[in-house]
Amino acid sequence: MLKFYDQQGRKDLPWQQNKSGYSVWVSEIMLQQTQVKTVIPYYQKFMRHFPTLQSLAEADMDQVLTLWAGLGYYSRARNLHACAKQLWHNFNGQFPQDLKTLMSLKGIGESTAGAILSLAYGKPEAILDGNVKRVLARYFLVDGWYGKTSVMQQLWQLSRQLTPKQCTGEFNQAMMDLGADICNRANPRCLVCPLKNQCRAHLEGKTAEYPHRKPTNKIPTRSADLLLIQRDQQIQLQKRPPSGIWGGLWSLPELETDKNTDFDQIGQFTHTFSHFKLQASVQSPSNKAKTSTKSFLIAENPMLAWHNLNQLHEIALPTPIKLFLQQYFKLTE
Ligand code: SF4
Repeated sequence: MLKFYDQQGRKDLPWQQNKSGYSVWVSEIMLQQTQVKTVIPYYQKFMRHFPTLQSLAEADMDQVLTLWAGLGYYSRARNLHACAKQLWHNFNGQFPQDLKTLMSLKGIGESTAGAILSLAYGKPEAILDGNVKRVLARYFLVDGWYGKTSVMQQLWQLSRQLTPKQCTGEFNQAMMDLGADICNRANPRCLVCPLKNQCRAHLEGKTAEYPHRKPTNKIPTRSADLLLIQRDQQIQLQKRPPSGIWGGLWSLPELETDKNTDFDQIGQFTHTFSHFKLQASVQSPSNKAKTSTKSFLIAENPMLAWHNLNQLHEIALPTPIKLFLQQYFKLTE
């Protein structure tokens, strides 16, 4: 793996330049459930706004979410911000150098802690991100789905056993790169893989079966009625509660009334979250309602605000809402 790292490992990723605990940490959080090529522009923009831990710790949550909008899994951004504050106020802005303390911080699990310590500080800590899990599951033919504790324990044990005490950062980077570039999920390129002579999945022709997939449970569908109210070139948006789906982001207000004649459907979209499918109907006040009601909602509700249509790119909108509004109002980015 170290030879593979020397010859083919990625060494020019933005977070590998002027490497620090801060750069590795931000990139590792962004890379969770997200591919490198998607992360790069977000990372660069994020670092331009928050070049230091202090600047992130002192930032407004809204600014952080605006830069995160589109990457999804927004609890990552909220935890990142909370963790920056913890580090700044309780640890003099320094990353703790032991696994346990690092893991006690918001949003830092064992693999992220291992990545920060090994990649940024050369400490001999193992990692187990999605790429490493896949490589190990195939190489050793580990049975069972990762969601099971026993399977995760087995994978962690293998990862810890294999991780060398020296050149740990290079080894970890090599495992991640191999998983991303060669041992990918759909089309592993075994013929050019440095592990092909020992890998059981390859030798036994079972790469398609491993890693074992999550047993399929159909996810439920939920429906929501969203309200679009326009006044000249402005629309009303509602700030979502800080936690939960789209926490802290701006969205179209959700209608709590039963469907009635005061609203007409003007559009719809679906969006699949990890645990349910959202079927959204977007509604607008009917002509009758417009003439009978002078103002909607906004008077008393501090979570609602008017936003200019041509400034929507400046606020944190969930991707499906942004796409809907772009299409509906024919807006460009
Ligand atoms: S030989 Fe194939 S399945 Fe095994 S680690 Fe390499 S790419 Fe993955």
